[in-house]
Amino acid sequence: MTHVADPPKHRQENSAQSLLKVLRHSGMINVERARQIYCNRDLNLGDVDAIGFDMDYTLALYKQGAMDTLSMQKTLERLVRDRGYPADILTIEARPDFAIRGLVLDKYRGNIFKLDSHRQVGKVYHGFEEVRGEGLFEYRTQSMRMTTDRYALLDTLFALPEAFLYAALVDYLETTRPNAQHDWPKLYHDIRYAIDLAHRDNSLKDEIMGDMDTYVERGADLALTLHKFRSSGKRLFVVTNSYTRYTDHLMAFLLDGVLPEYPSWRHYFDIIITGSAKPNFFTDRAPFLKVETDGRVLGEEYAGFERGQLYQGGNLIDFERMSGFRGDRVLFIGDHIYGDIVRSKKSSAWRTVMIVQEMEIELNRSEQLREETSRLDEIDLEIKRLNEEIAFDQGLAYKVDALLSEHDLGDSAVNGVAYDLETLRRARHELKISRDHMRRRRRELINQLIETEQHFEASFNPYWGLLFKMGNKNSIFGEQVEDYACLYTSRVSNFLNYSPLHYFRAPRQPMPHERY
Ligand code: IMP
Ligand code: MG
Repeated sequence: MTHVADPPKHRQENSAQSLLKVLRHSGMINVERARQIYCNRDLNLGDVDAIGFDMDYTLALYKQGAMDTLSMQKTLERLVRDRGYPADILTIEARPDFAIRGLVLDKYRGNIFKLDSHRQVGKVYHGFEEVRGEGLFEYRTQSMRMTTDRYALLDTLFALPEAFLYAALVDYLETTRPNAQHDWPKLYHDIRYAIDLAHRDNSLKDEIMGDMDTYVERGADLALTLHKFRSSGKRLFVVTNSYTRYTDHLMAFLLDGVLPEYPSWRHYFDIIITGSAKPNFFTDRAPFLKVETDGRVLGEEYAGFERGQLYQGGNLIDFERMSGFRGDRVLFIGDHIYGDIVRSKKSSAWRTVMIVQEMEIELNRSEQLREETSRLDEIDLEIKRLNEEIAFDQGLAYKVDALLSEHDLGDSAVNGVAYDLETLRRARHELKISRDHMRRRRRELINQLIETEQHFEASFNPYWGLLFKMGNKNSIFGEQVEDYACLYTSRVSNFLNYSPLHYFRAPRQPMPHERY
């Protein structure tokens, strides 16, 4: 007797499995745009064995307004105390929306500007005054070598007060001493000195540790996300530039006692590296030091990492050797485009996730401005259509001109029909009228586009517009995120909405010659 299989049941099981697989891999839970994870390069979370985290602005999200005000106060106090600035600068009022990431300070001119992806200057401010006309034109006609000492790039959220204070003090000095010769590079170096010291002498950190609720966001989702990763077999580690005392305090605030399985934050992680000096961690060979929570050094470590122990310093090569976490099976999540993302991408095969906290406000805002976005798209489309029609009519005009010159030679036939001189002249005239009309319409639309774009951008940031955009191009910040981060999202806990086996797929982007 031949065995007859039970195909319907078998098929049913199969389809249930494949349905679950599809559901797991497609992230079908409805996630609002502000909390989605965006993909530049395909990444299968199932292929990731170990996930590393930066701490500040990655695991720990700061309340930006409070942090900016605090950094500003500390910096101004030090400028007065150590650098002889007048005490009335202490009354300068914060403008929390002035600075965004990706801005560049021109130390020679006392200016701040935003670049597009082709390194062309899009917007410039001198103090709080926008530079237009000649001043802007000059930037656009000179070649910009960003690596020279003349420019400083603001690439972390910690650096935003630096940009604000530079603009505010340029403004202050020009108002209070209008006829003086100002030393803008010195102003920059004074601010840098004061901010750097506020970070290093613990005056900022002591203030934060004394009032965590004011400065640091806290929620159970972070603990749940880390737990979800661990439950799926991923190993977790921390590599932070903060030192042990602060790291311990901050991480305990975020994680201690949130889930009963993890009494201390250290239980979530297999390896904890503090004071890592990124980006040098990825390029140099500093040794790993075993340290106590208070920073006391217990000795160097070359053999292997111990769970629960805090380490300081170190480097990528010894990290991979001692941990066994290697290459593209490691995913590193950080917020600093250079220190966490570009450097790790260039020095290792680690995959990367960039945390862009600002995206939440921008995406929520753009949801509200949907009508304006679609109006912009419509105008853009109409301009493109007009361009094509004008070009087509231009072609016709050439053809009529050719017929006119051929007419003199007695050969102006089209499809066997000959046209007299008057008809040809009228056709040329009508074409000109129609082209002039279309050109006028195009000019109107371009003006509308500029106006709507300006209004649209100003509703994000009145000074600089969108973080990822400069006009209709990407900003340099947007370009770097696209080039170096495999994934980007607003916060680590957004991973809670995705399966730990999720396959992130980058949208296929055709090259211009592939588009029809
Ligand atoms: P991470 O993001 O966890 O790697 O660490 C950021 C650390 O760098 C924090 O401890 C900050 O206080 C510190 N930091 C940020 N900006 C400066 C600075 O300008 N000078 C010194 N330390 C800084
Ligand atoms: Mg960070």
